[in-house]
Amino acid sequence: MRIGCGFDVHRLVPDRPLILGGVQIPYELGLAGHSDADVLLHAICDALLGALALGDIGQHFPDDDPRYSGCDSRELLKQVFQLIQERGYRLGNLDATLVLQQPRVAPFLPAMREQIAPLLDTPLENVSLKATTSEQLGFTGRGEGIAAQAVVLLLAQT
Ligand code: MG
Repeated sequence: MRIGCGFDVHRLVPDRPLILGGVQIPYELGLAGHSDADVLLHAICDALLGALALGDIGQHFPDDDPRYSGCDSRELLKQVFQLIQERGYRLGNLDATLVLQQPRVAPFLPAMREQIAPLLDTPLENVSLKATTSEQLGFTGRGEGIAAQAVVLLLAQT
């Protein structure tokens, strides 16, 4: 068994779509970033890479590489999980938390799970997603950005 944790933050800005867990969420602001800035999928990528000590998402997908400009982070997650599988591991389970004040994303969590589980070749029951506010404290509380953290357990393929 291997465990990994990931953490990511992106800034909320005008004129960008808000994409979380592969799902576009209606809101007046979106996340800034080189890719689609899906902070949740980035935290999950880092947790997976961390579990096998494979570095981080910035090393695998540099933000000055034009190939990843505007790219769909589901594609990055797919590539990261391929590395995990090539090394003989599968997902045991994933537990992740979004930290944001607004918008309310609870209604979208089921759709995000539906996006993420197949990318990790696992049933829905192994994918847990949660969302919390930070009680209006800090940058997430002021609505300046969104943070995400993720923990994964990987199991050696049998
Ligand atoms: Mg990121």
